[in-house]
Amino acid sequence: MNLLDGKEVSTKIKEDIKRETAELTEKLGRKPHLVAILVGNDGGSETYVASKMRNCEQVGFDSTNLHYDTDITEEALLNKIKEINADDSIDGLIVQLPLPKHIDPDKVTEAIDYRKDVDGFHPINLGRMQRNLPCFIPATPYGIMLMLAHYGIDTAGKKAVVVGRSNIVGSPMSILLARNSNPGNCTVTLTHSRTKDIKSEILQGDIIVAAIGKKNFVTADMVKEGAIVIDVGINRETSTETKSGFKLYGDVDFEQVAPKASWITPVPGGVGLMTIIGLLKNTLEAAKGTVYPKS
Ligand code: NDP
Repeated sequence: MNLLDGKEVSTKIKEDIKRETAELTEKLGRKPHLVAILVGNDGGSETYVASKMRNCEQVGFDSTNLHYDTDITEEALLNKIKEINADDSIDGLIVQLPLPKHIDPDKVTEAIDYRKDVDGFHPINLGRMQRNLPCFIPATPYGIMLMLAHYGIDTAGKKAVVVGRSNIVGSPMSILLARNSNPGNCTVTLTHSRTKDIKSEILQGDIIVAAIGKKNFVTADMVKEGAIVIDVGINRETSTETKSGFKLYGDVDFEQVAPKASWITPVPGGVGLMTIIGLLKNTLEAAKGTVYPKS
């Protein structure tokens, strides 16, 4: 078994981003700038946004965290997004999900200028990704593709099984793995909660991407010998063993599955770190104007 080590890959890519950022800052006369909007007090979301902001600072970006109370109206949020869209000193904007029930996440996603949509959730970016055109790729699948590329994993012709079809992970992951690109060129099966006999589907995977949000869902009897296993799941449970008071578990039973896998990501220390890299790379591209030229 070989580890797909998010720490090793993200450290290396972050150094590259830092170098490029210093050059770009000199050229532009300002740093790349990411704004994150957070609504409410979900512990997980607060941790993710804080980590994104910290990573921005580490590579030399400016970052702003706009934190609103749960009772902010949809209209007020949409107006803030409009304001940021019009601000030339801001390159990227993300709105941390989930949002409170009274705010429509689709309206929010579509309100963001697609040229600042560094999470890659806007329909224009998703459509362009499907067509293999320059775009912002959703951060988690982007990070996974960068990880596969880093380890030189040959994906062409392999059977990939993606478990979970969310708009932010499973669906874009299936598109990227099927695209005519490297990594890519897989034959992809996209599974979900209505899939019949999911075990037999997962068993066929040369590459398995688990993104469902259920602790230890993928067990050793579902995984064929030599499979490449990518665990996106982050399941938080309270714990007295850790300083933070909680422990993270993946969607894959790592202990059981690792001996059968040729490559596997740990949780934590795998895909989560690569998601940050996807976001940083998109923000740098937004500031450079390489995906969408600055007007
Ligand atoms: P969603 O809840 O949006 O989607 C879950 C998907 O899993 C759905 O498609 C659902 O099917 C499917 N599913 C749920 N239960 C089953 C089941 N028993 N059998 C088969 N399929 C099932 O989740 P996300 O994609 O947003 O996140 C998935 C996990 O990844 C979570 O743990 C999340 O915290 C984590 N995550 C980690 C990130 C990282 O950086 N590492 C980034 C983003 C997410 P259906 O569509 O039919 O309901």
